[in-house]
Amino acid sequence: MASSNVQAPKGTVDMLPATARVWEHLQRVAQKMFSLYGYEPVYTPIFEHTDVFVRGIGEATDIVGKEMYTFLDKGNPPRSLTLRPEGTASIVRAALEHGLTANGQGAKLYYAGPMFRYERPQAGRQRQFWQIGVEALGMAEASADAEVIALLVRFFEATGIPHDRMRLLINSMGDDVCRPDYRAKIAAYIHAHASVLCEECGRRAETNPLRAFDCKNPGCHSVMASAPLLRDELCDECATHYGAVKAYLDHLGIAYEEDPSLVRGLDYYTRTVFEVQASGLGAQNAIGGGGRYDRLMEQYGGAPTPGLGWAVGFERILLALKAAGIEVPVRPVAEVFVARAVPEVAGDAFLITDSLRRAGVAAEIDHQARSLKSQFKSADRLGARFVVVVGPDEIATGQVTVRDMTAGTESRVEIRDLDTTIIDRLRG
Ligand code: AMP
Repeated sequence: MASSNVQAPKGTVDMLPATARVWEHLQRVAQKMFSLYGYEPVYTPIFEHTDVFVRGIGEATDIVGKEMYTFLDKGNPPRSLTLRPEGTASIVRAALEHGLTANGQGAKLYYAGPMFRYERPQAGRQRQFWQIGVEALGMAEASADAEVIALLVRFFEATGIPHDRMRLLINSMGDDVCRPDYRAKIAAYIHAHASVLCEECGRRAETNPLRAFDCKNPGCHSVMASAPLLRDELCDECATHYGAVKAYLDHLGIAYEEDPSLVRGLDYYTRTVFEVQASGLGAQNAIGGGGRYDRLMEQYGGAPTPGLGWAVGFERILLALKAAGIEVPVRPVAEVFVARAVPEVAGDAFLITDSLRRAGVAAEIDHQARSLKSQFKSADRLGARFVVVVGPDEIATGQVTVRDMTAGTESRVEIRDLDTTIIDRLRG
């Protein structure tokens, strides 16, 4: 590369056609799946008032504390805006602003788009990455938790990630009744073990003690393994809810593992949290996760409104598929290549191509005056199943030569029957 200022910024990637086509395929898989579960699309701005994330995600989280892309706009006075680091805060803000859950009605929404976090880039961790996610608002029952989790698992299955390469972890984080006491207990536990915990975990005792469970430091990990578990201290209502979620999952035959140390990094979670991990991904093995956030709407000044959802990372789905050796089926760029033998028939070839396209066939034609041989090469590169050869003889007889690139056979087809013949051979 000639100079560094023509490279994409660190932690970002250009999604070139080969990957972008897989991404579109996965979006179609997601959309189909979401529509089966009653979700509708929603698109929110890529930036929000910074406060939306600070209030929603929580000041003591890594995201708000260290990872946000925050900037002042050109207003007078300037406003603090932030590129969205995740989707839930924006969706809940939008739902409240537009009354989507007014009068207790529910809303099932999905989104897809880029997210921004200033993290240390590594395999499966970028500064701009793509998420697809769902949010189910207004639903308090445990069946909603099970449905949302089922959708996550079914979506991953539909992408092609093999069942046996995924683990679904679940936990309950309690609520305002039982969590404060537990937090205090963990803070005390951290203080009692401060000499053997890392400095960051020491600070967490004050800010966000439960995050100590997530510390990657092996010493902290083993100390936290003996810490009291919230599972044993849930209030009756949370315990009942958690039990019901598990019963529904059992009922659906969805396998899960209870992980009492699963806390996830955002402050807004209450009760059910879950994560799907895939094998073969190294440290960044969480391909998707989410949970319930029954107090989030209130934090924005709305009426108490339960909610839950999940987000999956597109790049990590790709890594999981690659690790499992799964090829994602994408349609070829061209189904048919219309090759012209000589320049004189360019107009006829163009018309034949146009007719195929209007009939719904992906048809490509050369615009670079290439030789017939090169046109066949292009056809191959684009994945075309058929090459239609147009020459003076073909125009004179009204029949073109159709070469089946897979079978290696050739036939003559009346030009007026070409569209239907190609469609029959392609789709039949
Ligand atoms: P989170 O919003 O942190 O719960 O993340 C949800 C999902 O988004 C994760 O399971 C990952 O698949 C993906 N993800 C989160 N952060 C990143 C990142 N920095 N780079 C790539 N994918 C990410």
